[in-house]
Amino acid sequence: MSDVLILNGRLVDPANGIDAERDLLLRDGRVAAIEIPGVLKNVAAAETIDASGCIVAPGFIDVHVHLREPGQTYKESIATGTAAAAAGGFTSVIAMPNTVPVNDSVAGLEWMLDAARGSVVKLFAMPAATMGSMGIELSNFSALRKAGAVGFTDDGKPVLEDDVMRAALVRAARLGVPVSQHAEDTRLTGGCSMNAGPVAFRLGLRGMTVEAEARIVERDIRLLREIEKAEGLRPHLHVQHVSTARAMEAIRAAKREGLHVTCEVAPHHFTLTDEAVGNYDTHAKMNPPLRVEADRVAMVAGLMDGTADTIATDHAPHAAHEKEQEFERAPNGITGLETALGLTLRVLHRGQGMTLSRVVELMSVNPAHVVSLEGRGGLAVGNHADVVVFDPNTDWTFQATNSKSKSRNTPFNGAAMLGRVRFTICEGRIVFSN
Ligand SMILES: [Zn+2]
Repeated sequence: MSDVLILNGRLVDPANGIDAERDLLLRDGRVAAIEIPGVLKNVAAAETIDASGCIVAPGFIDVHVHLREPGQTYKESIATGTAAAAAGGFTSVIAMPNTVPVNDSVAGLEWMLDAARGSVVKLFAMPAATMGSMGIELSNFSALRKAGAVGFTDDGKPVLEDDVMRAALVRAARLGVPVSQHAEDTRLTGGCSMNAGPVAFRLGLRGMTVEAEARIVERDIRLLREIEKAEGLRPHLHVQHVSTARAMEAIRAAKREGLHVTCEVAPHHFTLTDEAVGNYDTHAKMNPPLRVEADRVAMVAGLMDGTADTIATDHAPHAAHEKEQEFERAPNGITGLETALGLTLRVLHRGQGMTLSRVVELMSVNPAHVVSLEGRGGLAVGNHADVVVFDPNTDWTFQATNSKSKSRNTPFNGAAMLGRVRFTICEGRIVFSN
């Protein structure tokens, strides 16, 4: 018997309109019963979790993680990265394709998704939109979709050419999946290592402008409009890691217009500004870069008002020796799976009064919609038993040395967090407890 009983918690399940005390029974990897307190208390289960004082919610879904396997397992592996995901309350993650080699083939995708890789949570992948993520020739969308692709992206790079992006949006629309865009006009960012502005000026570094992000977002939105008109299709653009007020505003306008645009914001972009680069701290080096306070505030506003659909970590592990070099040479990216909830609760819930229901929408319900994960993102009877149990009130300090990730590249070492993951349950199995 593999039943798991979760008693005495507050179920926050916006997909099903529930925010109330409920007990849950999980059986054979599915949600078997949801009852008011008392009804399930005499059920014999292999595991009983006392969730008193805790929130019980659909497991978090991260539509943007880098697991570094194949090719760079000294930074992370599918096993270690998904262990970090479980510790962060995530039950599903979407792996980006910029591995070595790039995940642009059915064989590569199947290898990655194989149970032999040891994924601790449910693993999905977005293969490359173009062969080798070179931006020239589209990958085989229909074969990759059949093999499990939940979307297509050249993340790490943009799909720069109009014609290629248009073709990608058309093909993905026919398959009912999004094209996820790393919005950076790389023709404007050559040699740049942080945000353009006074901090870059003081440090003598070349800066990425707001235009470099906004221009791609605005171009992609124009393509959506053109395709809808010309082809009668409804392409879905997902904008990755939005970091600028101008791009957020473009997305807001596109949504108002009725185009199918979704977007994600990373915790570091609603928490930090380019001041965090301080004295060439490579742990604050990522792409898109940390921006200025007005942009940070715009990310918060987008998350509060529904313009932003989901919080995604862009978990991007790097080895210590890679980050410990000159700022301009160090790789972009930070780890993020284990600090996402703590920052979201601290900055958005406590700091801005965001309801826990909206937090769960941003971390579970909406990401499930972005990539159309059936039976996930909500806890109705019959759905996958993907559950996170977290205490929303504990203040604690993140210590990177305790991370499950192989890498330690985070600007949040020693940072204040709010809310602790107590249990992560993936398809009925307890994959993390604390
Ligand atoms: Zn990216």
